[in-house]
Amino acid sequence: MFAGALGCKVTDKFKTNSTQALTPDYRPLELEKEIRAFWEQNNTLRKLMDFKEKNSKGIVGYVEGPPTLNGIPHVGHARGRVMKDLRYRWKTMQGYFMPFWAGWDCQGLPVELEVEKLLGVKNKRELLERVGEEQFIEECKKAIMKYHREWVKLDSLLGIFMNHDKAYWTYHDSYIEREWQYLKRAWEQGLLEEGHYVVAYCPGCQTSLSSAEVGHEDSYMIVEDPSLYFKFKLTDSQDEYFLVWTTMPFTLVTDTLLAVHPEAEYAKIKVNDEKWIMAKQRVEPVMQELGIAKYEIVETFSGSSLEGTKYDFPFKDLVPKQAELEGKHKLVHRVILEDFVDVNTATGVVHQSPGNGEEDFFAAQKRGVPIFAPFDDEVRFTSEAGAFSGLFARDADAKVVEELRKRGLLVEVKTVKHEYPTCWRSHHKLVWLARKEYFIRTDKINARVLEAVGKVKFFYESPKNRFLTFLKEGKPWCISRERVWGAPLPVWKCEKCGEKTLVASKEELVANAIEKPQGHFELHKPWVDRITMKCQKCGGIMRREDYVLDCWHNAGASPYARFTDAEFAKYVPVDFLTEGIDQTRGWANSLLLEHVILTRKAEPPYKAFLFQGLAQDAKGRKMSKSLGNVIEANKLLENQSADVCRFYMLRKCSPEGFISFDLSELRGRPYQVLSTLYHLSRFLLQNAEFDGFNPEKHTLEWAMSQSQLKKADSWLLSKLQEAVQTYTEKLETCEFNFALGILEDYVIETVSRLYVPMVRKELWTDDPETLNRRLSVYATLWSVLKTVTLLFNPITPYLSEVLYQNVYRKLDAKLHESVNFEDWPKPNEQLRNVALEEDFKTLLKCVSLVYSARQSAKLKRRWPLSKMVVVAPEEACNALKDMAELFRELANVKTAEFLEIVPAYTSQEGWVSASEGDSQVFLDVHRDERLLGEGLMRDLARRIQALRKELGYLPTDMLDGVYVAELDDETTRLLKPYLSEMEELVRTKKVHLPSSREKVKAQWHECQMDDRKVYVAISQQEA
Ligand SMILES: [Zn+2]
Ligand SMILES: [Zn+2]
Repeated sequence: MFAGALGCKVTDKFKTNSTQALTPDYRPLELEKEIRAFWEQNNTLRKLMDFKEKNSKGIVGYVEGPPTLNGIPHVGHARGRVMKDLRYRWKTMQGYFMPFWAGWDCQGLPVELEVEKLLGVKNKRELLERVGEEQFIEECKKAIMKYHREWVKLDSLLGIFMNHDKAYWTYHDSYIEREWQYLKRAWEQGLLEEGHYVVAYCPGCQTSLSSAEVGHEDSYMIVEDPSLYFKFKLTDSQDEYFLVWTTMPFTLVTDTLLAVHPEAEYAKIKVNDEKWIMAKQRVEPVMQELGIAKYEIVETFSGSSLEGTKYDFPFKDLVPKQAELEGKHKLVHRVILEDFVDVNTATGVVHQSPGNGEEDFFAAQKRGVPIFAPFDDEVRFTSEAGAFSGLFARDADAKVVEELRKRGLLVEVKTVKHEYPTCWRSHHKLVWLARKEYFIRTDKINARVLEAVGKVKFFYESPKNRFLTFLKEGKPWCISRERVWGAPLPVWKCEKCGEKTLVASKEELVANAIEKPQGHFELHKPWVDRITMKCQKCGGIMRREDYVLDCWHNAGASPYARFTDAEFAKYVPVDFLTEGIDQTRGWANSLLLEHVILTRKAEPPYKAFLFQGLAQDAKGRKMSKSLGNVIEANKLLENQSADVCRFYMLRKCSPEGFISFDLSELRGRPYQVLSTLYHLSRFLLQNAEFDGFNPEKHTLEWAMSQSQLKKADSWLLSKLQEAVQTYTEKLETCEFNFALGILEDYVIETVSRLYVPMVRKELWTDDPETLNRRLSVYATLWSVLKTVTLLFNPITPYLSEVLYQNVYRKLDAKLHESVNFEDWPKPNEQLRNVALEEDFKTLLKCVSLVYSARQSAKLKRRWPLSKMVVVAPEEACNALKDMAELFRELANVKTAEFLEIVPAYTSQEGWVSASEGDSQVFLDVHRDERLLGEGLMRDLARRIQALRKELGYLPTDMLDGVYVAELDDETTRLLKPYLSEMEELVRTKKVHLPSSREKVKAQWHECQMDDRKVYVAISQQEA
């Protein structure tokens, strides 16, 4: 309800304001929609980038960490993009050019699995049979475009100023060709090689995974496995056995060695009529676990004495190949000594399956023991595994246990729940397998990699350490994948002599092809597979090695692959990147390794890297599809303001922290901060416009030259310089949460809660005598609020643009067409006054003492009092005396005395006090009729002001009349002397006090004032 009281109409001025400038309430969703359209119409994003490319004071290199287009973006993604956009807008305002161009990660396992799901196929075999490679690739391209639309929408809603016109796509031929250059360099340096190696293999995805992928955030899960104790009999003894433990019984099929620790003490124990060998320190706990009470240690010896001891492999009848192996190498089925044997768990005797374990593999390899890995692509045993042939590895567990039982070798089998790595995409339990793969021998350049990473700034210790620990492992990087949708491995191998060649461009490929490709040809399977070449060595036919590249290699090639040579030279190493903490094993890692290979230098591709914590739900639980607590970003932004979300995401915790995203918190403090800035700006606009403020003429210099700046103004300006300085420093160190704390405190506390009450009364009047003073306050607020608006721009770009257009540009048409073209504020040392800030600290402390003294006497702040006495050290007294007028105004006390000793009269009745440290405040609480009347008037004025606002009047609107009815005679008498002051306060031509409502026909509003009811009406004729 806005109009109607006494037939009043909305004024023209009100109409103009409500439709063209700022609505009385902050409605971010509507504003953001308007600003999006404004940016669109004015082509702001592109104009800005073009302008900065031509007019910058320097370059800030950047390459986009490409989101994988295999799913819908959630709030965690949104938070990451907000941090990137913060950097872009901030650095742009500082005068730099940053190539903030998009990029999309399009290939690899995550996309393939998503498409397999869409197509409803269960595994790779079914995929190739039912769909075929060509069709599958089409489907992958369709799928990424679907998700691409979601990401573009997110950027638009969130107000991310990333340029999508110059996006890179990791599946484009041009990109893949440049990615191949990295491999060419590796090839030239002898770092790219084929080899057998134990890799983690996912039976579901039917591909090997890199060690980085195995350590992925999502990979470890609690699973159930058998816990099996069994015996291997010593060949040269009738009653002696090794006691062994495993959680993977199927690996007994590929067992070829037993390992013990050379320095540990081992024991032979007698159990019934058998003797078992195990680590001595494990005897008691293991016997306890097995429930064996009767046993005795008959002998102890060091592990080294067991070296070469032969044991009976129990399944030679089931797996004849195992018997063959014994003939091939003398160490097969004997004990070896290894330091990696852990004698603190299990029995300290470890069975070795070089075909299924990394350490086992190395142990066998260095002794020349043959690797036995009889598995097919689906991790089923092949015919070499004899009786186990056709069984999926993990399904062989039961058969192994059963066969041990039959042979009297089973001691105990139970189930354990333990953490075990699963596939980060499909969550199948991983199996370690020795396979033929392609590796980049990053282990050979580990020292250079570590030197390079030492030059990177990481901002926070814990993610940095996590990254370094991982890098120090320095394992060879398995880059081959037995998949379809990926950049192909560009290695061709001769069928006859095994000669290999690496081809690193499309042109070279076509030139060397025996048959030139006909029709469509792209750098993907199956097209590249159709290219065959002639072997230069023997004339045989060369075919491509049937692998695609690890998707992390694909994305990690971006610094070179997404740019031209000239751009690469200009932008790389890039200045700053930020991605999720999971990227320590992902993009951050592959970028670094590839760059060191490409440049052959100990140079990182990025100078600084900020790892972000991940997003969790309100209760701090990980967001996951199974819990149903994933917050999709686009859905969120349908009903929530992007600015409020952006502020919240940056303010709630440090960027490295895991954010517990709680929707209910958005409406609280984040909204309040932005709303306060909005209302302060609106307050400035209305008053400044009313008084004809001209920012070009009424500058701070002008105000100073007129001697119109008061201490409060200087204090506010001084505090601003401090805020600009520390805020910028905190952005630099990526402490976004603290940076925003500074802004929040400045807006809410300094400007809104403290400064505005100091000047509100001065602005209320329209007395021409004091016009210059009012213009000076506007000059101060203009400087302060405009600066704050600019500081907010990287955080809340919509609100900053709204205020820039509707307040600043409205009053100064010469300003830029968008806030983004403004320069980043710098602290002005001339406006800084630390001594004054100290004085204000003293003043504000004493004001709050007055407030607490008032509270103890139940005296409202609005009620004027006659006298206060402040007792404080000399220096403080002098500062307060200098600001006595302001102090009396804020304290709402008529007279003040500043003393160094407590005067005796304050101990009399009628005085209350409050103190803090060396300052003490005494208040005279006695109120005569004049003070009572003025207090009543202030109480009433406040009700009327609230009503004015509720009815939609602008603070500058002059009302024709205000009616207050049903006051008792005493109140009326006390009020009468203050009616003209009240008229000024509530901005009306006349205040009437009719004894009853009936006397005036009006729309009455009931107001509660302490324990009584009063009735107020407002009359206003059409202007
Ligand atoms: Zn998988
Ligand atoms: Zn050949």
